This record gives sequence, structure tokens and C-alpha cells, in this order.
Amino acid sequence: MKLWNELNYERRQQYFGARKQGLSERASLNYVDLEDTRKELVPKYTCVLGAAAWEVERKNYEAWSSFRGLLKAKSKGKLPPWTRNVSPPGYWKDEETGRRKLWILVRHEMYTVDPEAKVIYISRYNLRLRFAGEVRWYGKQERMEIWYDDARRAWYASIAVKVGAETTRNGTKPPHILQGERRSIEVARPKGDKVAGIDLGVNILASVVVGDGAWIIYKGARLKEDYFYFEGRIARLESEASRAKSAGDEKKYNRLRAEVRRLKRKWTARRLHLYRNLASHLIHGLWERGVSKVYIGYPYDIAQERGNKYSVNIWAYRELVGAMEAKAREYGISVYEVLERGTSSHCAYHEVEVRRGPRGVVTCPVGDHKLHSDLNGALNILRRGSGVLVEGNLRPLSFIVDHNGVAPTNSIASKKGGNAQNPGTYPT
Ligand SMILES: [Zn+2]
Repeated sequence: MKLWNELNYERRQQYFGARKQGLSERASLNYVDLEDTRKELVPKYTCVLGAAAWEVERKNYEAWSSFRGLLKAKSKGKLPPWTRNVSPPGYWKDEETGRRKLWILVRHEMYTVDPEAKVIYISRYNLRLRFAGEVRWYGKQERMEIWYDDARRAWYASIAVKVGAETTRNGTKPPHILQGERRSIEVARPKGDKVAGIDLGVNILASVVVGDGAWIIYKGARLKEDYFYFEGRIARLESEASRAKSAGDEKKYNRLRAEVRRLKRKWTARRLHLYRNLASHLIHGLWERGVSKVYIGYPYDIAQERGNKYSVNIWAYRELVGAMEAKAREYGISVYEVLERGTSSHCAYHEVEVRRGPRGVVTCPVGDHKLHSDLNGALNILRRGSGVLVEGNLRPLSFIVDHNGVAPTNSIASKKGGNAQNPGTYPT
């Protein structure tokens, strides 16, 4: 694989260049510019390889990422005992026998698998490959790797499968589902058939209403702190880097860019960690309450919201939904996404437009009753998804999501000087 070797050559040059200057392994890794090398080299190959060129790059990128992970483990003394030496990704050597050699990478939408006829069909090359063996997992197919093993004198294919992912966001069946035997990695079955609606937000990361009348909220204060801390540092470093560049200080510029990349990775990792804590606490709690179906608002408003710079990153919300979906699969809970448009601006009980007041309280013109906006959002999502409308004087069970877990806090209602919901004034 020429592209692999060329990419890897550049990346190794950057790495060993820094090592020669006496930098540590981990510090040297920051000099490997995965972005630039990709932009420079991949386009040279796309005319020949097509999309496969990007797949090769991704594979190489993953190899470098796992190298980074190993170094981190090494620094903490957590390397598995059989791993004596950690070294950066190597080259594909054609002359060596018995070694797994990469032949081709095929993107998920470029092939189909027929598990009964035992045929893999790759449309781009009009290739039909017969295979032996069984297809084990059921789910969305991802990249396929095909390689030749010299020692066994046989071709092999492996397919990455997103287990359990069977439908797309709007509920239609995607065309590239691998129909293996097992659908999900399930550790439990739902205890009941209750439903829950989840409204994702910024200050309140998740506001959850359960069909039995429970209201649970998760506060996002820690995430917000992290956001300001990381975004601030990154912005300062970036402007320092651009000053260094215009001053012609290449060395300083590279050092600063490497630091920016390191911070971005760290910030993503911390965010994901918080999301997983939340997902794990929430889904387990819902399972205990006997929930079997969960409706999550697709954060249309969050993406559009102004004045909350950190909320515009829609990918962060996909991360959160992804963490919840993964956890829900373990408990056999189904997750549906509900388009959130209008859910925060209309009363869940009367479907008329509400007035937004201070402290996140909305007022409905019908009977002039008040609702906490996060409660209203979750009620609307639950109603839209399942048809269930929860009534009554709901008081929140409140939690804060932190890096070392999830802890209960005081009710938002008591702190903010007002009722989350104005009891008794809304007609049923
Ligand atoms: Zn109303």
C-alpha cells in the first residue's frame, strides 16, 4: 500500500525529528501533524483509489491514535504485560511472508453482503466474492478490510459492524445492514413498559420525564466550566500561534499548534467522559423504574440558539445521544429521536405558544399557568413520541454530572426562588 507508506513516512519523520531533539515520546507525538499530512497526501491518491484513499488514511490515523493510547498507558504504568515495547506504526512490507498484508479497504456504502448466498458484492469494482464462515453480528456495516494471508494462502475479509444499529434517524431502514445472527450486546431486559421523554439542553444537560410522573434533571455546570476553560486556553494559544507565524517563528508556531491539538483532544475526552457518566446513571435509573422506550429530542433549537457559543457544537450532542443509545442497548431499552421543533415554545398541555419568563419559567396564556421550560420540553417530547401526557405537580429529582460520577443536588426550584411549576393553576 503505497499511500500508507507515504503517509506513514511523513508522520514518522515528524515524530523521529522531535525525538532527535531530545523530546519525550509523548511530546514528540504532538509534532505529528495528522491533519496536514492527510490534506497533502490523500488527494494525490483519490483519482486512482477513490474513496479507498480516505479509508487508508483513516486506518493509519487510527494506528497513530492507538500508539498515543499505548504511550499514555505506559506513562501510567498500565501497559499490559505482554506489551514490552511500544513503537510508532510501521510500514506495510510486501516481501515478508506470513504477515497480514493490507489489500484493500472498502467503505460501508460500497459493498453488500448476502449471508445466505455467502457472497460479498463490491459495486465499484463489480466484484463478487464468495466467502466461507458465518456472519455473526446484526447491525450497520462499516468499513470492510480484505487481505491476503501468505502463510495460510487464503483471502480474508473482516467487516466492522455497529451492532444493533438498524434504523436511521428518521426511522427508515438504511440499505447497508449486515444481517448476522446477533442484534445487540444485551445484558438485561426491560422490567416494564413505561416510557420516558428526554429534553437535552445546555444548563440542564438532560431533563427527563417518565410516564409514571417522575421528573429527573441533570445539571451541566461541570461541562460548562470545562467549556470555558478549554475554549479560552485554545483561543489564546491559537492567537499566539498566529502571531508567531507572522513573526516567522516556525518552531514556536509548530509547538503552539501541537499544544492546541493536545488540548482539543483532552477536551473531547473529558466531554465524552461526562456524557458517559450521565448516560450510564440515567439509563440504569430508567431501567430500574421499568422504562422500555425512551424518546430523545433531536436538538434543533440547541443548534440554532444564539448567545450560547458552546451549544452550537451539534456533534457534542450526537456524542451525548450516542452514549445514551449505547447504554440503552445494554438494557434492551429502545431509543427514538423526536424532532424538537416547537417543543420549548408551546405548552405541553394546551399546545399554545408560551411566554418565556426569567429563570427558565414559561407562562401559558391558557389559565396563565407556569411551567419550568425544561419540564415543558420533556413533556412535549414524551407526548410527541409516545402520546403519553404526564399530569400533576412534578418536582424534579436533581443531579449534577461530574467527572467522577453523578451526584444528587438540591432542587432547581428551591434555589431559583420560585416554583418549577405553578401547582393547581392549570386546568386538566
Ligand atoms: Zn398551557
